[in-house]
Amino acid sequence: MKIHEFQAKELFKKYGVPIPRGKAAFSVDEAKAIAAELGVFPVVVKAQIHAGGRGKGGGVKLAKNAAEVDQYASSILGMTLVTHQTGPEGRLVKKLLVEEGLPIEKELYLSMLPDRATATIIVMGSEAGGMDIEEVAAKTPEKIIKVNVDPLLGFQGYQAREMAYGLNMEPEVVKQFIPMLNKLFKLFVEYDCSLLEINPLVITSDKRVIALDAKVNFDDNALFRHKDIQEYRDLDEEDPFEVEASKYDLNYIKMPGGSVGNMVNGAGLAMATMDIIQQAGASPANFLDVGGGANAQQVENGFRIILSDPAVKGVFINIFGGILRCDILAEGVVEAAKKVDVKVPVVIRMEGTNVDKGRQILEASGLNLITAKDLTDAAQKVAAIVKG
Ligand code: GDP
Ligand code: MN
Repeated sequence: MKIHEFQAKELFKKYGVPIPRGKAAFSVDEAKAIAAELGVFPVVVKAQIHAGGRGKGGGVKLAKNAAEVDQYASSILGMTLVTHQTGPEGRLVKKLLVEEGLPIEKELYLSMLPDRATATIIVMGSEAGGMDIEEVAAKTPEKIIKVNVDPLLGFQGYQAREMAYGLNMEPEVVKQFIPMLNKLFKLFVEYDCSLLEINPLVITSDKRVIALDAKVNFDDNALFRHKDIQEYRDLDEEDPFEVEASKYDLNYIKMPGGSVGNMVNGAGLAMATMDIIQQAGASPANFLDVGGGANAQQVENGFRIILSDPAVKGVFINIFGGILRCDILAEGVVEAAKKVDVKVPVVIRMEGTNVDKGRQILEASGLNLITAKDLTDAAQKVAAIVKG
């Protein structure tokens, strides 16, 4: 799960990690009031969306006076911000962060993330801060310093010093940076983070070390033990189909550009299904794993969500009946088809437990369903449909 910068900074504050003074604003008037409260200029007006690269896209502005706060807040709120992370459709800005502007002497990069290959937490730093880190990694990998932290041993003093000296910090900066690293690492572990990134981490002209930006992602599977993080969820930032699917514990991911809606049981079979759709010359509109142990109601909801997507021109239901028996699946499909208007052709490939009973239910329903004899046949049929 992703959260906003202003929420990540609330967590930083809780752990004693220095952040600029500031507050979130939901209207131009609020932004002006916060700027007045801060009592200094310049003030930074920042778009709050779940994507980076806002600065380059025009979503971060430095206001020198109250009139500019008004001007920037008005232009950023309600704008469709396009960055390299939002895709060409961009993201509507509904929230701002208004902060004191700081005199920056140096911009650094700092991040933490789990590394599955070594089963450690990687702490990464670079003097090339404020820039796109992927670009730094590709062009000048030597500018990135990495330490691997064993989760059982914890973050060691020598590792923190290795990072600080690797970033060429002066002693008075090191003194602030090392406790800060320890606090961030504690936050990372305690909150089951999947990513923590500060770009830039700045050293101000009066030698203070401050997190100017903040990005924190969480492991969804651990969210049940972090009620406070659940409260941070912002449905405005999520795909509406994915939000709907998450209500029924369906593993659904929207695939932009595709036209074949597909419903499959089991993640592996779902991946294979997406591959054969591609091989047949069409593109999947979604990934949907209804789960091995799905019930008729989940099948019904999955089918309904697929059909509500206007990009879907044909549906491919591919089920191997194991724990989810074919008759249960068939009941779910028939129930859903009764409730929603099925405007597009539906191809079904079904094998496994109770397959004959399942086929009987589908046939008796009188629905216009196309049955396929095997996977290849099904993929070719659905591809032919969406290609018109
Ligand atoms: P991002 O583009 O989405 O990563 O947003 P950032 O929070 O990183 O802001 C982009 C850039 O705006 C930073 O790299 C800074 O150069 C600049 N910026 C942000 N806050 C301040 C500030 O307080 N003072 C100054 N001088 N520049 C700032
Ligand atoms: Mn940034």
